[in-house]
Amino acid sequence: MLRCDFCGRQCEMVIRVALDKDYDRLTVRHHKMYACPECSKKKEEERRKKRGAAGGTKTS
Ligand SMILES: [Zn+2]
Repeated sequence: MLRCDFCGRQCEMVIRVALDKDYDRLTVRHHKMYACPECSKKKEEERRKKRGAAGGTKTS
């Protein structure tokens, strides 16, 4: 089973999340984490807010 890196919950399906480029700059290496669908959704919303709803993505 896979584990969500955000809430720590174990779930059958996790989504790989690439964190914002801001993070990459700080950590140098690409930072990929795994999120359950719930956390993934949350992250997506956060990111969208941060970019002022300008970044168009495929989410529903
Ligand atoms: Zn989660």
